[in-house]
Amino acid sequence: MENGKKIERLPLIPLRGLSVFPFMVLHFDVGRDKSIKALEEAMLRNQHIFLTAQMDIDVDLPVKEDFFQVGTVSKIKQMLKLPGDAIRVLVEGLYRAEILEIVGEEPYFEVDVRIRYDNEHEKDVETEAMMRTVLRTFERYVSVSTKVGPDVILSVSAIEDAGRFADVIASQLVLKTDEKQKIIEAYVPKERLQIIYEILVKEIEILEVEKQINDKVRTHINKVQKEYYLREQMKMIKQELGEENDLDDEIDEMLEQVRKLKLPKKIEEKIRKEIDRFSKMSSASAESNVIRSYVNWILELPWNKQTKDTLDLKKARRILDEDHYGLKSVKERVLEYLAVRQLTKSMKGPILCLVGPPGVGKTSIAKSVARSLNRKFVRMSLGGLRDEAEIRGHRRTYIGAIPGRIINGIKESGSKNPLFLFDEIDKLSSDFRGDPASALLEVLDPEQNKEFTDHYLEVPFDLSRVMFITTANSLATIPRPLLDRMEVIEISGYTEDEKVSIATKYLVPKQLKAHGLTDENISISEDAMHAMVNFYTRESGVRELERKIATVSRKAAAKIVEEDLPTLRVTKRNLDKYLGAPRYRYDEVGQTDQIGIVTGLAWTRVGGETLNVEVTPMKGTGKLVLTGQMGDVMKESARAGLSYIRSIAHQYDIPEDFYEKLDLHIHIPEGAIPKDGPSAGVTMATAVLSALTERPVDKFVAMTGEITLRGRVLPIGGLKEKSLAAKRAGIKKVLFPYENLKDLEDLPASVQKAITFIPVKNMDEVIAEALLPKETGHED
Ligand code: ADP
Repeated sequence: MENGKKIERLPLIPLRGLSVFPFMVLHFDVGRDKSIKALEEAMLRNQHIFLTAQMDIDVDLPVKEDFFQVGTVSKIKQMLKLPGDAIRVLVEGLYRAEILEIVGEEPYFEVDVRIRYDNEHEKDVETEAMMRTVLRTFERYVSVSTKVGPDVILSVSAIEDAGRFADVIASQLVLKTDEKQKIIEAYVPKERLQIIYEILVKEIEILEVEKQINDKVRTHINKVQKEYYLREQMKMIKQELGEENDLDDEIDEMLEQVRKLKLPKKIEEKIRKEIDRFSKMSSASAESNVIRSYVNWILELPWNKQTKDTLDLKKARRILDEDHYGLKSVKERVLEYLAVRQLTKSMKGPILCLVGPPGVGKTSIAKSVARSLNRKFVRMSLGGLRDEAEIRGHRRTYIGAIPGRIINGIKESGSKNPLFLFDEIDKLSSDFRGDPASALLEVLDPEQNKEFTDHYLEVPFDLSRVMFITTANSLATIPRPLLDRMEVIEISGYTEDEKVSIATKYLVPKQLKAHGLTDENISISEDAMHAMVNFYTRESGVRELERKIATVSRKAAAKIVEEDLPTLRVTKRNLDKYLGAPRYRYDEVGQTDQIGIVTGLAWTRVGGETLNVEVTPMKGTGKLVLTGQMGDVMKESARAGLSYIRSIAHQYDIPEDFYEKLDLHIHIPEGAIPKDGPSAGVTMATAVLSALTERPVDKFVAMTGEITLRGRVLPIGGLKEKSLAAKRAGIKKVLFPYENLKDLEDLPASVQKAITFIPVKNMDEVIAEALLPKETGHED
């Protein structure tokens, strides 16, 4: 059939947004009345229909000018009535054709068309080359396009005929109506290929740019979402493995807490990093537990929590008095501190160091200071602490590491401004594990403690709002640099009367309450309390006494319940029913004035004590025998005393060669507490002289003082404690070094009343006061 000669008369349907190429099978829905009529007419004939595109798809009722002249003669292959009046038709494009004449417009368009077959013979080398180029380009197009599947390439490449090849490719492309029309209007395959090639190249370019844009957008989104996806995946994996799925809740909670804490930026960063590490770990691993407890440590510290100080002086004083008897200087100092705080609003305060024997209330007054200031209280005993890590913690790399006791205390207190008590700061020791004293120094130094860094925590914690108080039994062993930082307040032991007062006002009520008793159930008489002080306890403080009172209360409670007694009376006489036989016996003043026995006064860590020095001369060769409880210093001072006696022997009618013919035995009876020190020098010398001269010693005299070779009496410590012991033992006269005269005013009035204190400068004065004439003396 020659191209362009054949003419066909056919019904026409204008297509909206569609173009049909030969060999293309497609379906579309027909709804317009005119088009349906055209369809029906076509079905009545040979099912051929002329399809051409409408130029403007919005036109509902097109006239002949509204559609392109060139279209495709197609065969209707199937018709399907749709709900409503529409019909779905399946058509196959057969060949191109152009309208020669519109022969009818109603009830449907009818046209005479001139058929335009492709001319297969036109396939030349150029066309062949064109086909290959287009195929390659099409391949590229497929590779960048998401709309065409790669299998199309296979079927396309199998087509020999250039025209059909072009049409099949064209039917695969998503093109605008006028582009499609251009292809349809290209009767010569080579031209058609040319057009398709140009379109492909342009499309590829567009698609590539599009892809680039997409990629950019995608990588951006990816970055944000990647972590999320990974996390989700990890969650799934962990769930699969049956590992804790509470983990995420835990992490969420951690992060929530971090948010709430409002930590300093650096610390927050650090902790977030740790939480992040934690979230990526298997929850069963050891490492994960280490991180968990680390994070929890940080989260549980009171970074921003603190109590508000009470600055009400009256109230503070009331609380201090409520809890403690006496302790005037501590109370005053605390009130001063408060007053200064109120005036200056400064946070910095002195570090108080309470020094005194055990049981005098150092710890408990500190607790009460905390209460009066409305601060939390943390106590840390430094006794025997030798490892710096106890203060500053172990590094996390250390297995089982935890923070040091400072941070621990802060955590327990739940406040960043507690009152922190370092107990027994004089018992710090240092060895190869580092120097705890210098770590402590850092803690106490207001310049450094703002940034106190625990080895475990690794991040600084501000200790500058903490109020520090320390305690010690003696100043002697406190490391000097520490001592320099502190303001020392000495608390000395209590007198018997003071102890009884403390017991009556504080300890008894406290213990009764603790044992569920009231003073209607039980009364403890005053003489019972004196007995407890004297015969059941031996101490400067009242700790033992408190324990005894606790014992009495406990036993009394049991008795009341068992025997159904209404009231119990504890007196001196029945005290042994509660406490057993008396534990201590005081060296009370002896029955008679004796030769060679002198009462000395000693100061031990539990307070003052009397000590009896006994001297017996024996025939011998001038040896000095020292027995009993004597330290080296005491032995030295015994020798010094003896030398002095030798130098004055002639004044007292002692044979000058006594030390060649006699051995002197000096004995100090064993006591509960070892004694040492030079302050028994005077006592021993006096005893020796008494023994040699056979002059008795006044049994009401006690003495204390260091002796020089020339018989000078040097000052001693602890006069208050010693005089308390003297009073207890019934001594009436105490000889003490003149240089201690200033200490006299510190002595309790009751002691001053009971005892005559005689300051002495040298041994002559001692002898004059202590030794009685031969063969005389007090008789009982
Ligand atoms: P320290 O710390 O000096 O060794 P503590 O503070 O442990 O002594 O005191 C021991 C007990 O004696 C505590 O129960 C304390 O309340 C009580 N105590 C000590 N001194 C007094 C006092 N002056 N008034 C009331 N109670 C006291």
